[in-house]
Amino acid sequence: MVLERSYEGIPVPLSRKSRALTSRALSELQLEPGMLAQDVVDAVATVLGKPIFLEQTVDERFKKTTGSFALTPNFALIVFRGIDPQAYQMHSLFHELGHLLCRHRECSRPGTQLETEALELVLWSEAEREAEFLAFKIASLISRKSRSIQAFG
Ligand SMILES: [Zn+2]
Repeated sequence: MVLERSYEGIPVPLSRKSRALTSRALSELQLEPGMLAQDVVDAVATVLGKPIFLEQTVDERFKKTTGSFALTPNFALIVFRGIDPQAYQMHSLFHELGHLLCRHRECSRPGTQLETEALELVLWSEAEREAEFLAFKIASLISRKSRSIQAFG
């Protein structure tokens, strides 16, 4: 099945450098099946050494983007679009966490409702590919369900 393959293999093509970076980032987290989104946020906060605040927004600016993040010396802020379906918001959240884990400075992911469409659109940037890859991996690693019936993909 296509769905299964996208989780078993690598859903986003990564360079050797990106592969090393993302696998190192994941190994810092120690994710387990059954963890909640908040557990993942806490785990990333521990790795970063600063708290992560989450904010849902229906702000005009977020009509064109699904999520974003800001890093300050004392905390990280992740903003995501409140109008998106919950599963999609979670994917956006994991995507932004992926950026934080890779120590990226910004997210330039275009806003779209369709995962498949988003996946194609983000391929142009190495940083976006890394964040998107981590979003899939995080969802996969904390899922209690069998791979073939996962919500994303
Ligand atoms: Zn991004």
